[in-house]
Amino acid sequence: MLVPPASVADASSSNLGHSSTPIVYGGLYKKDIDILWDEMCYSTVINYSGGVFMKYEVFKTDEQWKNELSEFEYHVLRMAGTERAYSGELLDEKRMGTYSCRGCGAHLFEAETKFDSHCGWPSFYKSLDTKAIEYIEDSSHGMVRTEVRCAKCGGHLGHLFDDAPQTPTGNRYCINSVSITFQAD
Ligand SMILES: [Zn+2]
Repeated sequence: MLVPPASVADASSSNLGHSSTPIVYGGLYKKDIDILWDEMCYSTVINYSGGVFMKYEVFKTDEQWKNELSEFEYHVLRMAGTERAYSGELLDEKRMGTYSCRGCGAHLFEAETKFDSHCGWPSFYKSLDTKAIEYIEDSSHGMVRTEVRCAKCGGHLGHLFDDAPQTPTGNRYCINSVSITFQAD
């Protein structure tokens, strides 16, 4: 019987608004499950009761992510790293278009909702679809913040703050440029 590590269990229970439909990864023998468990503890398995439930629709092993992403993309998307403020390539992007997850291509934000927050990272006041984003309480670095991840692949995007009263929602999705791609209209 597999028991989810506390960090994974906590992350799923503190999900604020969305939980992706679990996909059963069927037909696995116990030894296979153990291998998968080792490879996926950050991204995928949230519980086990008669089957292995995948938290995210797009599943790749750590090895696959490392092969497909650059070292820095992997560090931010898969290890919840952060790019330096004012260093991201999409910070000053002002054209109309769509921002997507660099891990899986899911559409996440529209350019109309991007605003200049002067925080040093691309900022959006609204996601394209609330179901596109997963919200997780993050108590690292001595503060409680809301981490935002791509709901399709679990890629770390950044954090959500409610400190933008100048916007229609008051929210600020503070997103790493390296976690997203931009497609101009
Ligand atoms: Zn994604």
